[in-house]
Amino acid sequence: MIKAVLFDIDDTLLDINLSAFVARYTLGKARILSRISRRPTALTLSHIAKSYLAVTSSNRKDSKTNLEVFNETFLARTGIPLDDPAVADALDYYERECLWDLKGGPVYAREREGARATIEKAQSLGLTVALATNPMFTLTCDRVRMEWAKIADLDFALISHIGNSCRCKPDARYYQEFVSQLGLTPQECLMVGNDARRDFPRPDIALKTAYVGHAWPKRAIWRGPIGALGDSLPDLVSVLNAQEND
Ligand SMILES: [Mg+2]
Repeated sequence: MIKAVLFDIDDTLLDINLSAFVARYTLGKARILSRISRRPTALTLSHIAKSYLAVTSSNRKDSKTNLEVFNETFLARTGIPLDDPAVADALDYYERECLWDLKGGPVYAREREGARATIEKAQSLGLTVALATNPMFTLTCDRVRMEWAKIADLDFALISHIGNSCRCKPDARYYQEFVSQLGLTPQECLMVGNDARRDFPRPDIALKTAYVGHAWPKRAIWRGPIGALGDSLPDLVSVLNAQEND
């Protein structure tokens, strides 16, 4: 029986040029860390990129959080401990005070029509809602994007972020751990996302995905715009629940 709907954020609930956002977000961090380490920004940027690659590596066998792997990789490459209070304070300040400025320009982040209503529809059906965004960013950064999407005031049972997740999408372990934190099984959840690769757990763990976008992913149990999903949700949940009883 479906008990929860898990929503991706970027390009699902929020219109955003994600690659422009990631480029500016990491450049801002690189500038701060370059000032601290007195090294060129371009060099720091490449260390940040390599640290993210360690986080997303499919060869990971560890049980560390993504943040721990990022920080350890960055430390090994640069000698800079990101969890040192002075460094962490500078990065926290950046996350809290400077991200909002990235909203306009090429990032062009704005609420997506029908997104909020679809979340509220799920809640009105008695379903738990949670934000299963790819856990590459901090919770502060997730919250800024939730503000941009005009959904920050809604009651989400869980929000994934770099500090509470041990893998990234589409690794099944990320999804398994996320639904476990909700006290649920994959069969009891419906994932909603725009990414034909990342929003479908690999390998398949029987978590169904409603796909928001223009492609035709084979494993999608529904496809269309986020606003239409709200209208379809009662029927979709009924069908999924009935299939389970067959
Ligand atoms: Mg997305």
